[in-house]
Amino acid sequence: MAKVTVDASTCVGCGLCEQNCPDVFEVKDDGIAYVKANECSSCDLKEVASQCPVEAIKVE
Ligand code: SF4
Repeated sequence: MAKVTVDASTCVGCGLCEQNCPDVFEVKDDGIAYVKANECSSCDLKEVASQCPVEAIKVE
């Protein structure tokens, strides 16, 4: 299973990851994306990570 993390000090809360995969990412009121799950049956999480404008998402 993949391990997904968001670097809270880098994330700017743009919401793109949540738009791309709301099952895994949620931007909370503090403007930081949180990881709700470590896998998604319909998304390529590495692709979602690669679209983060500040490269805050890591998928291992
Ligand atoms: S795409 Fe990147 S910067 Fe935007 S909310 Fe997600 S983790 Fe944060």
